[in-house]
Amino acid sequence: MLPTDSALVLFSGGQDSTTCLAWALKHYARVETIGFDYGQRHAVELTVRPTLLQSLRRQSADWNARLGEDHMIDLSLISAISQTAMTHDIAIETQANGLPNTFVPGRNLLFMTVAATVAYRRGLTVLVGGMCETDFSGYPDCRDDTMKALQVALNLGMDTRIKLETPLMWRDKKQTWELAQELGGRALVDLIREGTHTCYLGERGALHDWGYGCGTCPACALRARGYHQFVGAEV
Ligand code: ZN
Repeated sequence: MLPTDSALVLFSGGQDSTTCLAWALKHYARVETIGFDYGQRHAVELTVRPTLLQSLRRQSADWNARLGEDHMIDLSLISAISQTAMTHDIAIETQANGLPNTFVPGRNLLFMTVAATVAYRRGLTVLVGGMCETDFSGYPDCRDDTMKALQVALNLGMDTRIKLETPLMWRDKKQTWELAQELGGRALVDLIREGTHTCYLGERGALHDWGYGCGTCPACALRARGYHQFVGAEV
């Protein structure tokens, strides 16, 4: 058990945040979840969230006892104030600054800040997010330094001692699958494979060995490659 005992997990319904939730359920006595509706083009992630939470409860009596309230927050203002391929019907491409246009400027900063406000009210002392600097598509708000700077800013601005935990920061996708295996065995790997959603295009027709998705968007490509490396290493 880590020194602080309660956590709020940024839970989107994707592979990374579901793995983070399992990680938090192992380490903290009390765990709550927060999700954001920000006008995503495809809200599949949001629709799989409640089912995933129920499935996680069924996987372990211990997790069921630790898992508390789920908070859904409307952040539709993000799609009103930005224009990206995540929130508008435009093709995914690389911008002049080298970042893909799926990058929503300031999104993780806003998510963490809103989560900190909810954590403050709920008396939760740790925020857990799936940010990752290894397979991060170059998003600057996924960087370890960004998160550390934000932790300092939040604690100064709210006079708190909230800790930002990012258990996937230095893991690639293969290692994220390995962490799921470590936390919940094959049952958790299969739940993440079949129950989570990562595809940028919201495709959920065919079940591949690595899960549902179009198979070609950057998120699917990363997920599929990581899964194949994971399975290859296992046999
Ligand atoms: Zn896809």
